[in-house]
Amino acid sequence: MADRVYNFSAGPSMLPLEVLEDVAANLTNYEGSGMSVMEMSHRSKEYQKIIDDAEANLRTLMNIPDNYKVLFLQGGGTLQFSMVPLNMMTKNKKADYIVTGSWAKKAAKEAEKFGDVRVVASSEEDTFSYIPETKAEDFRPDADYVHICYNNTIYGSHYAQAPDTGGIPLVADMSSCILSEEVDVSKFALIYAGAQKNIAPAGMTIVIIREDFIGNAPADCPVYLDYKTHADNGSMYNTPPCFTIYVAGEVFKNILANGGIKALHEKDVRKAEKLYSFIDASDFYTCPVREKDRSLMNVVFVTGNDELDKKFVAAAKEEGMTNLNGHRSIGGMRASIYNAMPEEGVDKLLDFMKRFEEENK
Ligand SMILES: *Cc1c(COP(=O)(O)O)cnc(C)c1O
Repeated sequence: MADRVYNFSAGPSMLPLEVLEDVAANLTNYEGSGMSVMEMSHRSKEYQKIIDDAEANLRTLMNIPDNYKVLFLQGGGTLQFSMVPLNMMTKNKKADYIVTGSWAKKAAKEAEKFGDVRVVASSEEDTFSYIPETKAEDFRPDADYVHICYNNTIYGSHYAQAPDTGGIPLVADMSSCILSEEVDVSKFALIYAGAQKNIAPAGMTIVIIREDFIGNAPADCPVYLDYKTHADNGSMYNTPPCFTIYVAGEVFKNILANGGIKALHEKDVRKAEKLYSFIDASDFYTCPVREKDRSLMNVVFVTGNDELDKKFVAAAKEEGMTNLNGHRSIGGMRASIYNAMPEEGVDKLLDFMKRFEEENK
């Protein structure tokens, strides 16, 4: 489709064109059912297959062990900031958080409503430009869990590997990096991710939770907020976000058909490397993030001049590359290059960056 732009938005963000076209082809009559998935009862046989296949394909893609449940919920990544402590800060009512960006900070702040939260490490004083090092001894041995944000969407940083918590259950917000790299799910008690960054349209959050962390919510926990409600009902206690789950399932199939996460990861590394190596070699652009902590998904950079940054974003838009502005809280530029961003989009951006540098330095 010639009139599509390269959309560098941090989320909602690009979806694979093949998936969009397939969804469009099935929009008014899904596989001969005579109706759209949007119009389908979630209790129908057709829909049960859609949600079952989506879960099965995600399990295959991420190699999710049998003792983990996969839940498709609503409320975004944000609701998990509350659901995690509500369900998991229940034994000693203590949890340790690492604050590596705005989302991690919001998660920690929300958790304070439910118990004793300690921020074990933070890179805030350095504008979240790195991932702080931690050792197992840094965490309280009686903490119910440790919470991290695996990829910091706004600041463009990322955990190269999960921290050693000395056996304390680890919870990770993977909203902006899920499916971009192979992760060993068994190292985590719970992984959550909103769909709209790297999976599907907005409206659905994936929770991957080890079974023994289900069923510990207090008796007065609202029914929707208890993981057990969803685990016991196959994510269909109430009407699920049917259409988003369907599109997510189509994306999972698409990834499986194209070599799985390993192949995607290689492409993601190639895309990010092109941008970082160009930025590092240039004395016009800089990336504020410490080299070993850089995100593959959100590439943050600045010229050092606010006016030039604004000019960059506007000029790129003229050429069909949209949403290159940094988050409203920090400015500058951010190229979100999730799985669905074609390599040609990155090449086109690089070409533009070179020209813009020539014309403005
Ligand atoms: C976008 C984002 C969130 C918030 O997601 P919502 O679905 O808007 O609630 C949380 N964490 C991370 C890492 C994000 O990128």
